[in-house]
Amino acid sequence: MGYRILVTGGAGFIGSNLVHYLLEAAGLDLSVEIERVVTLDKLTYAGNLENLKDLEGDERHRVVEGDICDRRLVDELLKEESINAVMHLAAESHVDRSIEESASFVQTNVVGTHCLLEASRAWANTRPEIEFRFVHVSTDEVYGSLGVDDPSFSEVTPYSPNSPYSASKAASDHLVRAWFHTYEFPAITTNCSNNYGPFQFPEKLIPLMISKLQRGERLPVYGDGSNVRDWLYVEDHCRALVTALVKGIPGEVYNVGGNCEKTNLEVVRELIAVLADLDLKIGTIDPDSVIEFVTDRPGHDWRYAIDSSKIQSELGWAPKESFESGLRKTVRWYLDNAEWARHIEDGSYRGERLGLSSGA
Ligand code: NAD
Repeated sequence: MGYRILVTGGAGFIGSNLVHYLLEAAGLDLSVEIERVVTLDKLTYAGNLENLKDLEGDERHRVVEGDICDRRLVDELLKEESINAVMHLAAESHVDRSIEESASFVQTNVVGTHCLLEASRAWANTRPEIEFRFVHVSTDEVYGSLGVDDPSFSEVTPYSPNSPYSASKAASDHLVRAWFHTYEFPAITTNCSNNYGPFQFPEKLIPLMISKLQRGERLPVYGDGSNVRDWLYVEDHCRALVTALVKGIPGEVYNVGGNCEKTNLEVVRELIAVLADLDLKIGTIDPDSVIEFVTDRPGHDWRYAIDSSKIQSELGWAPKESFESGLRKTVRWYLDNAEWARHIEDGSYRGERLGLSSGA
């Protein structure tokens, strides 16, 4: 039997890239059979059905609007669709929003993960013949912040979350760990660094800067721009997630990263150069004249760096894109999909209801 996968948060940035990867590339890339993909998404401001529009008509895919905290709905979906794998991406994901309002982060990221774990455990117990798997998608932010000479985060780095977002993700990781140790629930956790690529909501650094550059606006950079992040092209992340699903060992944690540390200022400068090169209308831009340093975010972690040698050596995964090639693909995508960005700007993306099942 092939994989019948429930993807939570499948209308968001990474989730929609994952759904595309599962249905379009994973079969050839990783020799896996994908029989069915069910997207479960609450369609918060970050969920966008236009991200999945080109999959309309693919009978292997179903979209369900619903909340991962709705136990009855999750129970019904697991059973009705004979799910044998859950890939859990649904989350409130934006650090700045978590500082303004944290309750929804605790609700979705902690309570929602608990609901999914319990529903999945109950379902898997009724079907012992299925080799069930649960891939919990988490972040490197749970490990806290590094100093300039500190070694990169590994899978045994102690947790030290500093924002309401990372604290809620850390709590969900602990639940997943406990479900494996207490119930032998076959869960695998991945902790990944900053992603970029198509379909990323324009509140995050790279798409925000692209849209501001296109509108001739100044580019706000936190503090002095020296915060360091590790960057990974989203399709490389998706391949890591499916690799973890297929080859990963239950109970294990895999760190995923691009081995690509950059300061925010370096990212913005490289982005300006790529956009000027690909979008001739923009012309030459002097970075110093458009970058504007703004008051830093409270509790802003200074440096993240991830050691992904475990998934590379044990599961044979490696990123395919360099930052330069991934950034060019990303900018090209935003230039070719101006309408997608416009629908977010004017709010019309939230009115879309394409081939949607409501509830189970
Ligand atoms: P996103 O905000 O773009 O998408 C989240 C999706 O979850 C949205 O479609 C939203 O509608 C949905 N959602 C929110 N609450 C829900 C609920 N209660 N029930 C069902 N669906 C709900 O986020 P993203 O950037 O795609 O991140 C996906 C996952 O990957 C998250 O768990 C995040 O913590 C993790 N992650 C993200 C990054 C990154 O750089 N973006 C890096 C590492 C890990």
